[in-house]
Amino acid sequence: VTALEPLACRSYVGLVTTYLEHELDEPTASAFEQHTLICEGCVRYLEQIRTTMSLVSGRAAPSTSPSPRVGPEPAFAEVFAYKFLAPGRLGPFTGFAWPEHAWVSVTGRPRACRRGVHACRIGDLPYWINEELWVVELGEPVVRHADKVVSVAGRLDRRVAGWTGDAAERLARHCAVRVRDRACDALRAARLGDEADRLDSAPDDELAEQLGALAERAGGARAACEYGAVAFEALRDPPAAAAAGAAYVAALAAAQAGGITARDAERGDQARWLQRELGLPGDGA
Ligand SMILES: [Zn+2]
Repeated sequence: VTALEPLACRSYVGLVTTYLEHELDEPTASAFEQHTLICEGCVRYLEQIRTTMSLVSGRAAPSTSPSPRVGPEPAFAEVFAYKFLAPGRLGPFTGFAWPEHAWVSVTGRPRACRRGVHACRIGDLPYWINEELWVVELGEPVVRHADKVVSVAGRLDRRVAGWTGDAAERLARHCAVRVRDRACDALRAARLGDEADRLDSAPDDELAEQLGALAERAGGARAACEYGAVAFEALRDPPAAAAAGAAYVAALAAAQAGGITARDAERGDQARWLQRELGLPGDGA
């Protein structure tokens, strides 16, 4: 995420689905790929949507790194964390099919994004939203990074039953409504209170169009309205993609309104929503 280029990220998010369906025209696809080179947040979001969409199309998730393998139980375990997987217990970025209950290990020292079993603390969950949520047991040593933990070995312990399509839809709406509320605040600050009142009472399925049309004449509230439009468009995607998309747009909208601190607070709100609604026990991290 780059707070300096909110317009670029906003456009990017709106184009991801079309890009993955190879429906963008040549100049737009080229601009899209340029942004992919410079924006870490959008790259991560693209990968998230790529894996959630691979389910819908029935295509296998792309394999981008060597797969881990089933291995022996490590000497030290009992560190519990969480892991989002694509349907069928597939690793979102490796395509690795996780066995139930068996230990999976990699050789050598764990390295973030290259080698190792990747998992989440509760605070990391909003960055990795996918179809299936599992509790994983990790073998020591566990290396802690800013938005994930990495280990040499892991084992799926149990699936989080509460993370269903319905829950994903509710999270997506929760995030989109927060983006709408930011747009309403920005409209009121721009003395467009009547427009804000109309948005407050509009049905969800009209908000993408209303916010998009309003953006054109919203003055200082333009960016906030555009984020709102993109967030409600995201609700039309399949549930897990909708949740990942609306959550990412909510973080971008927060960054636009209040910088990095507001963005991190927004991700914190999403993590607390997941913990509360899914009844996740704390992870001590
Ligand atoms: Zn971006």
